[in-house]
Amino acid sequence: LMHLTRKLIEIRAMLLSIDQSDALKLPSIVVIGSQSSGKSSVLEAIVGHEFLPKGNNMVTRRPIELTLIHTPVKEGSGEPVEYGEFPALGFGKVTDFSQIQKTLTDLNLAVPASECVSNDPIDLRIYSPYVPDLTLIDLPGYIQIASMDQPESLKEKIASLCDRYIREPNIILAVCAADVDLANSPALRASRRVDPLGLRTIGVVTKMDLVPPDQGAGILAGNKYPLHLGYVGVVCKIPGKRGRTERSAQIVQQAESDFFRSHREYYGSSSLLVSTDTLRKRLMDVLESSMASSLHGITNAVQLELEEAQYQFKVQYNDRRISAESYFAETMDALKARFKDLTVQFRKPQVRAKLKEMLDEKVMRVLESVYWTDKRTPELSSLGDSKIKPEEVEPYWKYKLDAASSLLTKSGVGRDSTLLVADGLRALIDTIAAGEPFEYHPRTVERLVELSHTILRERIGLTSDQVENCIKPYKFDVEVDERDWETGRTGAIQMFERDFQLCEDKLKDIRKRVGGSRRLSSLIGYVKTLEERERQKKDRLSRANIDIEEDEPAPSDPDDYRYPPAHVLDARHAMLYNERLNILKLRLAALKSRRCRAGPENDVLCPEVFLSAVADKLAYTSTMFINVELLGHFFYQFPREIDSRLLYDLDRREILEFAREDPKIRAHLDLQERKDKLEEVMKQLNSLAMLRPEAVQPAPRR
Ligand code: GDP
Repeated sequence: LMHLTRKLIEIRAMLLSIDQSDALKLPSIVVIGSQSSGKSSVLEAIVGHEFLPKGNNMVTRRPIELTLIHTPVKEGSGEPVEYGEFPALGFGKVTDFSQIQKTLTDLNLAVPASECVSNDPIDLRIYSPYVPDLTLIDLPGYIQIASMDQPESLKEKIASLCDRYIREPNIILAVCAADVDLANSPALRASRRVDPLGLRTIGVVTKMDLVPPDQGAGILAGNKYPLHLGYVGVVCKIPGKRGRTERSAQIVQQAESDFFRSHREYYGSSSLLVSTDTLRKRLMDVLESSMASSLHGITNAVQLELEEAQYQFKVQYNDRRISAESYFAETMDALKARFKDLTVQFRKPQVRAKLKEMLDEKVMRVLESVYWTDKRTPELSSLGDSKIKPEEVEPYWKYKLDAASSLLTKSGVGRDSTLLVADGLRALIDTIAAGEPFEYHPRTVERLVELSHTILRERIGLTSDQVENCIKPYKFDVEVDERDWETGRTGAIQMFERDFQLCEDKLKDIRKRVGGSRRLSSLIGYVKTLEERERQKKDRLSRANIDIEEDEPAPSDPDDYRYPPAHVLDARHAMLYNERLNILKLRLAALKSRRCRAGPENDVLCPEVFLSAVADKLAYTSTMFINVELLGHFFYQFPREIDSRLLYDLDRREILEFAREDPKIRAHLDLQERKDKLEEVMKQLNSLAMLRPEAVQPAPRR
């Protein structure tokens, strides 16, 4: 018989882990009673140790699911004989029962005082040769009147928590103190509401030593409030002896049996149940028969649930099994594959094109600052048209070209090109992180990003120095041959045409904004008069050398009110774009002229071609070194870092967490696990039925 309860307790624990609904529950014994009725003392007497939280201030705030597991005594095996375990906390065997008490106290006090009680049960298992196989649930004691610091709602909260647990099929252990009228026992009152016939309630009458034996025997006879399973009278504390030690459990038990023996004439009758030991046996019997009678129903319920789970698993996943590990490994493989796919953007021609683009911008800026702001630049075009020989060109223009070239080569190409590529790599990692299934794995993404940044950080300084070193010769002299020249010329033309288009688009936008080209012309006219006025004023001031204060106010113009400031600003921009377009037009013509086509000997007259050719060389050289020092290293290192810092670094728990972050995988794993557990439970139930066919039939009541 022992075996059956033990098995069923195991099955019960499995069922609890599958489902918290009532359908799949095997009975447990639920302990209720008002505060100070002696509830804790009874439980401790059953276990034989002091382990429950003590204190005046509502120390039980969470249900304690207490599973007692009878273990055979192992002589000389060195194994601890008695110990507790908190499966949810995972810190293994606790042999010191005062440590268990401390942990329970901490867990209870962790419930904020504002909530008072929590529905979340604490799972505690106690293994001992001195306990029977039992499951008991200890609940917060009923309170009669809330004390000053407790909210009014507390009373109801405790009552409703208890109500959840005293439902069928659980057995109710109603604890009442002998020195309090049973009529006032909240435990019995609650039990009568859900079990009016008293079929699944055991009364425990504590503090029998505090009432005269005739009165005590009267209570136990249970005539007033009959219970089918009867009342058991106990004495669990010796008055005056606080703080029992381990050994004193036996002393108390001795005292209890002495007490009942000394009043044999009252308690000796076989119809009365007294002593903790009797209670223990009674609980085992009741739990076992109750479990046995639940067995048939639970087997059916599990069968139904199992069929449903199997059906869903077939329909939803076509019976495909997955594991957190396989999901994790697949995800990492996919990550590496995706990374590899994306690296094609970083082949040499692509990188070179990107760098060229950046260098073209630099060239434009150099041209702007060296040539376009120079009023003499239009001369350059007419020089190009004339028959003048290259060596006869003014030194002024030679000097200009040298300045422009050195501005370009000394503009921090090493740093800028390295950073540009590094930014590209960062964007690549971001692209991966934004894709399936990484939106569900923010912490992994964080790690990936961190990994990539670490590698980049290590390489950026080195690479940029290398590149800068290798382009150093260009800072002093650049050799441009015929082919370089032609490439440079095509590049420059493209660059200018692009810019030309850009300016035209901007102008179009402005025209649209201010209301047509007519309106823009008049706006520009207005801005020009403004500028003229400004100029005259300055002239006057400098000629007369007088202070601003003495200047008479400028005559106001009726136009001043016709144009909103935003449009005036637009007009100023339009003028700049027009200016730029003129220059571009002029220079494009030059670039396409015979002079520029002729070759590198005309570099001074065609600075754009020369600079574009230099930019080409810079892009080529930078690409070569960035490819080796940065890209090659990154592409080699990153997948390896994924392996060593992610793939092999996570433990089983972390991998499980990872897999469960993806809702699809979580649902799949959940259903699979549920199905597996139900199958296991079903197997166990079937083996029980095979062992004890009569057990699946309702057991006869005692
Ligand atoms: P709980 O609040 O219901 O858990 O009650 P406790 O187990 O903490 O007991 C309340 C008080 O009653 C404590 O002071 C115990 O020492 C005392 N007590 C418990 N059982 C007995 C008993 O059998 N006889 C006597 N005289 N006192 C007891």
